[in-house]
Amino acid sequence: MVNDRLHIICGNCGQDLKESGMATWEYVPGIKDEETGETIQSADVFIRCDNCATIHFLKKYMEEYKDG
Ligand SMILES: [Zn+2]
Repeated sequence: MVNDRLHIICGNCGQDLKESGMATWEYVPGIKDEETGETIQSADVFIRCDNCATIHFLKKYMEEYKDG
């Protein structure tokens, strides 16, 4: 087993966003229309850099998850 070597760095100030207390990670649940079941907004995750207050959304880097 190789150690975790993922680095997540703020592109604006260079802060290591995996360092505890230096970033806020939030999961934003998706929104579905209760009647039609249609997805209005898909779920997202963002990381706020607590050094320079930039918010980085991750959804744009992900493939859309498709059922079936
Ligand atoms: Zn930053």
